[in-house]
Amino acid sequence: MGELIRERLLDLLRPTPDDWADWKWHFRHRITSASALARIVPMEADVVRRLEAVTVKFPMSITPYYLGLVRDGDPDDPILLQSIPDVREAELADVGADDPLDEAADSPVPGLVHRYPDRALLVVTDICPLLCRHCTRKREWESGNWVRRPSEIAAAVAYIRATPAIRDVIISGGDPLTLDNGRLADILGHLRAIPHVEIIRFGTRFPVVLPQRIDAEFCRICDRYGPIWLNTHFNHPDEITPEAERAVRDLLRAGVPVNNQAVLLRGINDTVDVQKRLSHALLRIRVRPYYLYHADEVRGTEHLRTPVERGLEILAGLRGHTSGLGVPTFVIDVPGGGGKIPLQPNYVVSWNDDALLVRNYEGLTFTYRNPAGDAAREPAAPAIRPDASARLERRRQRSDAAPTPP
Ligand code: SF4
Repeated sequence: MGELIRERLLDLLRPTPDDWADWKWHFRHRITSASALARIVPMEADVVRRLEAVTVKFPMSITPYYLGLVRDGDPDDPILLQSIPDVREAELADVGADDPLDEAADSPVPGLVHRYPDRALLVVTDICPLLCRHCTRKREWESGNWVRRPSEIAAAVAYIRATPAIRDVIISGGDPLTLDNGRLADILGHLRAIPHVEIIRFGTRFPVVLPQRIDAEFCRICDRYGPIWLNTHFNHPDEITPEAERAVRDLLRAGVPVNNQAVLLRGINDTVDVQKRLSHALLRIRVRPYYLYHADEVRGTEHLRTPVERGLEILAGLRGHTSGLGVPTFVIDVPGGGGKIPLQPNYVVSWNDDALLVRNYEGLTFTYRNPAGDAAREPAAPAIRPDASARLERRRQRSDAAPTPP
């Protein structure tokens, strides 16, 4: 954490300890202009002007808590790069699409995306405490701050009630936790009254950017309407603070499993080292690294996207080198509504009916016998792994050379 940045932040906003512990105070005091930001993070006047120009199209919003995590004097700080506008957002604005995942085409009623057979996404607001520069729903930022009206929520709930295949509802946004606890309890109550809705999930970045939001009342509500799961979005180990750890601990105590969906971001977390430290830090606070998303092809985010190969290199650097619990599934979410497709390094060198030649995490190759699927088929001769075969040969030579016992 940057002492100077935090000092300037506190000087400017003058929070009491109670203010700092209150998520609504942070929300009210979000930094939303480049000129306000320049009073906390020093920058030249022409940079301020250029950032102001970017925010006309792609606005800015940073919580005091999250800005307080930025390190002093590091323009490549991972917290800063995720939250401060970049002139390339405007310069590369013709690359990508507004809605690359074509969510609008899978929306049977406003606010509901029903793409996969047994689950649906309920989008309750477009408001977020932090506007992440890589956001997939950046298109919503221009439509102002909206929250679904009760009549719209009722229509979405009616669709879910009339669709017995939906057993899993993800409440998303924007960030759904910008709604107050009463409103969330109301939505959860309606969903929980539908017998075929087995689980409800929240998709929220509050544990990362404003963990004070995870208060006792919210945890009680989750406990009451469970089973509830929560997917959050840590991208860098610097985001795992004592405050975030406390929020996760309270969620877990309320019976809410917490999973992480990171996004692979150029210059922020696109190395094996950062991803490994992120996974280890997540596991320490009992959050499962669930997905690593390749950044979607969203207009205004191209400068943060890496080649797909980077994700595969990172997976290869994790698999086998750390516990499987710490290896997320790497996915691309394909344009045109094709959904998530998992990718992983290729560990199969060749394959036939009898055996596979496979490569392990160290690059060593092994043969793995493929059991017959058909009982009538002759069983294949057991394959011997190259390394095992070499060991057996050495053992045979040693025993040939040994003196014959009397
Ligand atoms: S929290 Fe999620 S929806 Fe909100 S700006 Fe960040 S990535 Fe977008």
